[in-house]
Amino acid sequence: MSKENCPYCGHDFENRANRYNGGFLSHFQPKWASQHIDDLFTVRCPNCGVAYVSESVKILGLVTKKYYLLVLMAIVVIVLVCSALGH
Ligand SMILES: [Zn+2]
Repeated sequence: MSKENCPYCGHDFENRANRYNGGFLSHFQPKWASQHIDDLFTVRCPNCGVAYVSESVKILGLVTKKYYLLVLMAIVVIVLVCSALGH
């Protein structure tokens, strides 16, 4: 459980319960990968309704936005190495 403090109105709220969701169809819209990542970490303040990218949201309870790209790259590298070793 982590608390989020809205930078716009100062309201404290539970970020897990207020994750911004663009809807299922938003996954099929053409967007930059970085935009998809921003969506994952976007929260919406229940007090003032402003949606913004949070630095404290964690994916799977441990990966913040700062490390998410590193984790993705590590997975890609591991997959590439494994497929190279398989030949
Ligand atoms: Zn707010």
